Amino acid sequence: MEKGKRKFIGHLTLDGERQIQEVEQGGSYRYLGIAQVFAPITLTTKYRLRRKFLGRLRAVWRSLLNAKQKAISTNTRATAVFQYYFGILQWGTSELDRLDCTVCRTISRFHGHHRNASILRLYITRMEGGRGLTSLQQVWEQSVASLYENLIWQTEPWLRGVLLHQQWKHAQFKSSLIQEVYTVFHRHGLPLPGSERESTIERPTAARMVRASQQRVLIETLRRKRIHGAHRHTLEAAEGRYDSTLWLRYGKSKAETEALVFAAQDGVLHTNKYRRDVLRQDIDPACRLCHEGPETIGHILSCCPHSLWKSIKLRHDRVLATLIKHVGRARGLEIPSTDATSTTVEDTNTKLWVDLTIPTAEQITERRPDLVIHLKDEKVIWVVDVAVSWDPLVAERELEKTAKYRDLMADLGRRYVGWNVQAIPVVIGSLGTVGGLRRFLLITGIFDSHNAERVVEEIQQAALRGSAQMIRRQLSMR
Ligand SMILES: [Zn+2]
Repeated sequence: MEKGKRKFIGHLTLDGERQIQEVEQGGSYRYLGIAQVFAPITLTTKYRLRRKFLGRLRAVWRSLLNAKQKAISTNTRATAVFQYYFGILQWGTSELDRLDCTVCRTISRFHGHHRNASILRLYITRMEGGRGLTSLQQVWEQSVASLYENLIWQTEPWLRGVLLHQQWKHAQFKSSLIQEVYTVFHRHGLPLPGSERESTIERPTAARMVRASQQRVLIETLRRKRIHGAHRHTLEAAEGRYDSTLWLRYGKSKAETEALVFAAQDGVLHTNKYRRDVLRQDIDPACRLCHEGPETIGHILSCCPHSLWKSIKLRHDRVLATLIKHVGRARGLEIPSTDATSTTVEDTNTKLWVDLTIPTAEQITERRPDLVIHLKDEKVIWVVDVAVSWDPLVAERELEKTAKYRDLMADLGRRYVGWNVQAIPVVIGSLGTVGGLRRFLLITGIFDSHNAERVVEEIQQAALRGSAQMIRRQLSMR
């Protein structure tokens, strides 16, 4: 300043390379990442963070990344903007909730989330059948817990000083990091970190404990929801509970497909039945294609007579083709690339009968399974039947498929004496639920456990892609 006016001196150059930038009018410089200004520091910093966060969020969801990468990028690139400021600036619950709502709205705008679908499932891990995002509320709780834990474990005198200052602030004003920590730990019913300092060798554990508790609370809340929670109960009852979320963990789908499947699982897609019963619209609940049953997701995906010989058959054939491709690969067989069924593929050891009527000695009605695998060296015959079923009925369909070919297997057993003849049901839920599929694939001995997982995942993807196509087509019709 010179005589009350600002004087321009240009950038200052230090040791030939580094520069100190000149501050513009109205601008500020940063110290340890925090802007040094005369205005209330909290407000300006929060405003800046919010803008930066939303900009990054939009960039991620506008991009061509797949669904899983978008979730990871949101957590590591966008949400991380706030992470260093938690525990330093004061944050209120309603403030963080409002920000989380903005996140939901933004993702919905880029078709990454159906507006009626469960918000809780956005924040459940992909292992447990959620989308794997982390809410700002969750990050705040974890950051505050780990910051406090780091402070009480410190031996550095000046960091102990920070803790003493916080304790003094807490005693004086009741607004401090310590107050926030008390709130978080009380909410999750956890003991305060540091109380067992001598006995615990490993650290840090507070953030991990908080994260586990957050997931428990989310899942418990979801289970109590009547409409959104129905799929959770199906998932928990399924034999392949963790295989059912393989498609989420491999994460090859687009965000739009994932959002559609989640909305279908949550039972909130605008089918005629939903529009009449839940949205209270004055319309006919019957299916718009066959006009026979009420139009529910279950009807569209597994029992609409109109799509039985078209899209349901097509989806079934794709699942079968995926299975045949993997069997061929594991046995070193050349599989024709066309989707044509009703063929025989063979080499010296392996013979595959695809969708053929098996000649039998007696008159048997059920003698055309989807696939018969004939392994000469191992002396085994696997009679495989494929089905894409409505999710809660997967276990039932597996039993049905095993029983269906009992006569055929008895006949084959009489003709191939000393051979192992067994029925292998390959049943997958139309919305991804897996029953005993991995167990059945391992029985065949064709796949090792790593390969079996890949096969389950690809079969699941094929079924989900078909289902998503069917839903899109039907719901876009008038
Ligand atoms: Zn129908």
